[in-house]
Amino acid sequence: MNKLSIIVPCYNEEEVVSMFYRETLKAVTSIPDLDYEFLFIDDGSKDHTLDILRVLCCQDKHCHYFSFSRNFGKEAAMYAGLEQAQGDYCVIMDADLQHPPTLLAPMYQAVSQEGYDCCAGKRVGREGDGMVRGILSRSFYKVIQNMTHMDMGDGAGDFRMMNRTMVEAILSMKEYNRYTKGIFSFVGFETKWLEFHNIERAAGNSKWNLKSLFSYAFDGILSFSTVPLKLPGVLGALLMMVSFVLLGNALVQQAVFHHSVGTVYYVACIAAFFSSLQMLMVFILGQYLAKDYLENKDRPIYIVRERDSKAVTASNVYDITPKRRNVI
Ligand code: UDP
Ligand code: MG
Repeated sequence: MNKLSIIVPCYNEEEVVSMFYRETLKAVTSIPDLDYEFLFIDDGSKDHTLDILRVLCCQDKHCHYFSFSRNFGKEAAMYAGLEQAQGDYCVIMDADLQHPPTLLAPMYQAVSQEGYDCCAGKRVGREGDGMVRGILSRSFYKVIQNMTHMDMGDGAGDFRMMNRTMVEAILSMKEYNRYTKGIFSFVGFETKWLEFHNIERAAGNSKWNLKSLFSYAFDGILSFSTVPLKLPGVLGALLMMVSFVLLGNALVQQAVFHHSVGTVYYVACIAAFFSSLQMLMVFILGQYLAKDYLENKDRPIYIVRERDSKAVTASNVYDITPKRRNVI
């Protein structure tokens, strides 16, 4: 019998995690001939999420939890879940019921019967998200699509069911700066898309604010595109042309019309413009350097502080070589 691992990153989800468990349990147990496990990854929650998970895992032998030593972010939680999962298939779901459990059955059908490696939910509409976030997200996905030439379209999120081969491919990408949407697209595989309507989270609040969304967008671009590194070259060439034109103009004014342009003023303006551009370019270079610096440190992606007594750890489940030192 096949086994499905349901991976659920949880950060301060006390209001909704029990409801999520009940709804998802109904959906998964209605699929015939399928064993399952819930893997809750408590990403350093500061509310009572961990207490609820402890109780759930005592009551149901299909439930496991891993609790991080601090908030490492959803990317790290998803990686931990995939690394700890024992299933033949893995599905990643948000704890807030924004990913409808009713899609589990058609997703399982696609990966187990229809020959797909992955079946992913594609969110249509952004009704649950607010207007500003909707506009910013859509613009970001247009930019990243053009810069990376990879399929990371708006609506293609982390809600997807994958077979073991795809999971192993994702686990083989051990980068510290993880942008999982990009990683899904990078590893490829045959994917079926199922559309679902965006709904508001069942309870609690989104963990994203404008600052974290910008930083996530920026991380996505830096992780999968080197186009920003080419900007200094393009802008440098453009500015050189502009400076030649300005210089030519000044010389012509002087020689033909005996008219002196306000040189000092122009020089000051151009100098300020150039130095601001230089700063911008140095900033972009610095960001790439910072990412490389963190990768080279080879830090663990996550650190587990506590797990349920039945949980097995990655080291005795799947031998992933070379292994990253995730501290457990
Ligand atoms: N999440 C997490 N760590 C974080 C932020 C979020 O594990 O640092 C989890 C969160 O508990 C939820 C999922 O990631 O299960 C999606 O988060 P959220 O609903 O806040 O994001 P949104 O749906 O607003 O994009
Ligand atoms: Mg949500």
